[in-house]
Order: sequence, then structure tokens, then C-alpha cells
Amino acid sequence: MSVALVTGATGQDGSYLVERLLAEGHEVHGLVRREDLGGSLPADLVVHELDLASRADDLAGLVDRVSPDELYNLGGISSVAHSWADPVLTARVSGVAAVVLLDAARRLQERRGREVRVLQPSSAEIFGEPAESPQNEATPVRPVSPYGATKAFAHHLAGLERSRGLFTASVILYNHESPRRPPTFVTRKITSTVAAIAAGRADRLVLGNLDARRDWGWAPDYVDAMVRALRHDEPGDYVVATGEAHSVHDFVGAAFRHVGIDDWARLVEVDPAFIRPADPSLLVGDATRARERLGWVPTVTFDDLVARMVDAERAAE
Ligand code: GDP
Repeated sequence: MSVALVTGATGQDGSYLVERLLAEGHEVHGLVRREDLGGSLPADLVVHELDLASRADDLAGLVDRVSPDELYNLGGISSVAHSWADPVLTARVSGVAAVVLLDAARRLQERRGREVRVLQPSSAEIFGEPAESPQNEATPVRPVSPYGATKAFAHHLAGLERSRGLFTASVILYNHESPRRPPTFVTRKITSTVAAIAAGRADRLVLGNLDARRDWGWAPDYVDAMVRALRHDEPGDYVVATGEAHSVHDFVGAAFRHVGIDDWARLVEVDPAFIRPADPSLLVGDATRARERLGWVPTVTFDDLVARMVDAERAAE
């Protein structure tokens, strides 16, 4: 049984990961912010109340006390829009905190003489407006948002620590969704509103750019890629994506059709307030390396993803 430390343990990915690691029988420690303590947390999770924006010494001290074999740094700002509003907080929790954890992991490994492995969740946003599509691990990193720039910084630092002896795996994640996605993301906004319309509690869905395209996958599949990458023989970087892009329009249509509404165009409105000044449109990932080296493949199709998210909303109605 190994010891795992998970930051962002209450988030979408963190919660799926914690459930999986506990089911595998590991001792799992989670970093949880005070405001998230109220939610339902797995009984076996060892909870540490700490914020990634805390002092570096407090974060590093926690790594020393927990002495993990696997460290999954899943906490951080996950919204591109929010990163424009608060680039300083974004840099602290998704950038500086990542460096603190990597540095603490390497020092711990040197002190105790046993390997510490670190999983850094990188993001397709590091590619910004990419020169090529689909993107792979060799695509130039040139972010176009504070979020992308911060994730690029942490991605590079994970690679540099690897070059001096720390096992780091960096998974370059494309959008990944589930019923646990916060409603600020377009998929959850669509599925919750479509379920409300089907139940007669709402009468329209107001969105921004319907032509925006994303490579959307199923979040638990992406958590599986993280675990595979961290337990592989060799450290490395891996693009994790479905390789298929769909438009927001496609997602809306699939969600409405799933609840039996075919003439949905009359229910959708576009509000320019939701249209972004810059919006990467060519982000599609080529996960060949993850498939070949990790044996990872996405298990949930686009239509299935939409159906699962809509069904979860309807079950909660
Ligand atoms: P992101 O890819 O991490 O920014 O994830 P989002 O789910 O927030 O956005 C995905 C795409 O949906 C972006 O291209 C948005 O411009 C587009 N979009 C269109 N309408 C909306 C909306 O009402 N809310 C959000 N969040 N995104 C929207």
C-alpha cells in the first residue's frame, strides 16, 4: 500500500481520483480548502485543511509530514476567464504552488532515499492558438491567457525537475467533463439548463459563441490517464484527448435530442456578453503517445458523454 497526497481533492478530477485510490487500498491524503470542508468527503480520506495559496513553508511542511509515494497536484484555478480577472492568484495557486510541491518532493526523496512521484496536470491551454492541429507533445508551447502561461510555467518546471532526478509525469489535458464539472463551464451549463427546460423550470438557454469547438472527454478517463502516467516505467509528458472536436452547437443539439426536443433552435439565444475576446478554436489533441506507451484510450464517446451529463441532471431534479 502506498501513500498518496492529492491537492484539489474536492474538485472534479480530485474527487474521482481520491475515490479510485481509496478503492485500490492506498492511504490517501487530501488538501482541502476551508470553504470546501462542508461538502461530503470520503470517510477514509485523511483531510488536511490548507490552501495552495498558503505560505510555501506550510505546503512543503505538509509534503514532509505526509511523506507521499505519489503526489497528484490537481488543485488550482481551472478557469481561463477567471485567470484574466485574477492573474496574480492564478500564478500563485497554479504556478508557484506547483514549484513548491515539486521542490518539496525532490528534497523529501533525497532525504528519505525512496522515490516520490509527482503528477502535474498540464493543459491544452499551454498551446494557445497552435500552429498545428491536432497538437502533440512536440507542439510549441505559446499560451494566450494568464491561465495558459501559468500552466506552461508549471509544465516546464515539472520537466526540469525530471532532468535532475524527480519522477514527474505531465499530462496535457484537453477539456474533460462530467456531472461534477462546475456550472461555469459550458457543458454543465448546457446540461443543467436543458434538464430544467425538459422539467418545465426554464424556458431558454443563453450562450456565447456556438461555433467554438472543443475536444471534450470524460473526466474519469482523464484521471485514469494520470494514474497510468504516474505508474509507468518512465517519466514523461502525454497529451490526453479524444482527438475529436465538436462545437458548442453540436453539444446543445445532442443534449436537447437526448431529452426528446428536436426543434431546439427556438430555445437557444446568443448573448454577446458570453462571447470572449480571445478563444482558442483549434485545440484538438493527438493522444498517440498515451495510447502506445500507457495503453490509454478514451472509453466514452461524445454522445455518451452528453447523455451521461444530462441523465445526471435529470436524476437530481
Ligand atoms: P474552456 O475551454 O476551459 O474555456 O471551457 P468552457 O466550458 O468555459 O468553454 C468552452 C467553449 O464554450 C469556449 O469556447 C466558450 O467560448 C464557449 N461558450 C459558448 N457559450 C458559453 C457560455 O455561455 N459559457 C461558457 N463557459 N462557455 C461558452
